Amino acid sequence: MISLLKKVSHVLITLTLILFLLPFSTNVKAASVSAEQLIFIAVNDGLVEFTDAKPVVEAGVTYVPLRSLAALLNAEVRYDGTENSVTVTKDSRSMKILINENMYQLESTDKFPLTIKTVQNRTLLPLRFIAEYLQVGLTFYGPGPIARLIDKNVAIQYTDEQLYMMYKDKIENEKQQWKAAHEEQESAQIAYLTFDDGPNANTAAILDTLKKYNAHATFFMVEPKTRNNKEAVLRMVAEKHAIASHSVSHDKTKVYQSPEALLNEMNKTRETLYAITGIDSRLIRVPYGSKPYLTEDFRNILANNNFQLWDWNVDSNDWRYSSEEIVSTVKKQVVNLKKKNVTPVILFHNGTNTVEILPEIIEFLTSEGYTLKAHEENSHFMMNFWDDERL
Ligand SMILES: [Zn+2]
Repeated sequence: MISLLKKVSHVLITLTLILFLLPFSTNVKAASVSAEQLIFIAVNDGLVEFTDAKPVVEAGVTYVPLRSLAALLNAEVRYDGTENSVTVTKDSRSMKILINENMYQLESTDKFPLTIKTVQNRTLLPLRFIAEYLQVGLTFYGPGPIARLIDKNVAIQYTDEQLYMMYKDKIENEKQQWKAAHEEQESAQIAYLTFDDGPNANTAAILDTLKKYNAHATFFMVEPKTRNNKEAVLRMVAEKHAIASHSVSHDKTKVYQSPEALLNEMNKTRETLYAITGIDSRLIRVPYGSKPYLTEDFRNILANNNFQLWDWNVDSNDWRYSSEEIVSTVKKQVVNLKKKNVTPVILFHNGTNTVEILPEIIEFLTSEGYTLKAHEENSHFMMNFWDDERL
């Protein structure tokens, strides 16, 4: 074990993603992380490479794999599988980490809360916590940046700056590579095109355009129209678009007559879509959007029946605007959302103007770095005017 540790301690670098999670004021979970940073971890005079689980940083706290780090600090780590705990002993100090409980214990039986991460079956603890309880020094050197643990039993040879200079080429090279990968990732933002009130005679042209640009979209459909345009619905599924329910009557006096009436309309549409395609879509959009009609009783019944509901955050107004106005309003709203790093969900209808402007909209979104994806049940995020997290 010791020889392995020496080997590890001679080896190099660890890349840590610092994910500064933005305090989003909107109801939208952004698809991409806004700012990320690298950090390098050193122990005494060597930079560390973590071979399996990597350190992660969340909300400004660096979490490092306990076992790798403790070993480098000559601490003993014992895992107890029956109670899923780890006991760390260094010098005369000992602490027990209770993984399931997110707690730790010192000499006494008192337990204290601790945020514990599990990555690739490895236990990660806050770096500062490890340093404190193993009584090792912790320094931070900005230009790396390097977080460095210094064991008081070890005579170190290098200052933080000297350590950085020793590994400078390697560190800067890793940073370059990481930045390139990161930029690629950041450019892959997602936008969602959604089309309401179909399918109808315009739907085939919309599908043609989407196909031409390899773009994917989400269709919120009215039940009688799905029965009358089964080919269009089947084509949506074949071409990897998402299908969703938008009521039977599309009449606000009927849809919002009672929570049960709403539920019946959505269930009937969902069942018809299932009968046509074999796909059971839980996604709905209520006619005219969820405000003001979708009051609490209505939302309760949808939540209790496991529906996912989407409104939108970009309104094309394509049912009343000219082609030029549609294009300019969509562009303006998307640019605003991009500044806030909010994922656009764009409302369109199956109209003739929409058919006309769709290529320009797609070219604009692509030039802004967006990938156009269909809604996915497993990566559903809240997009409703009530900020109701259940939907
Ligand atoms: Zn509608």
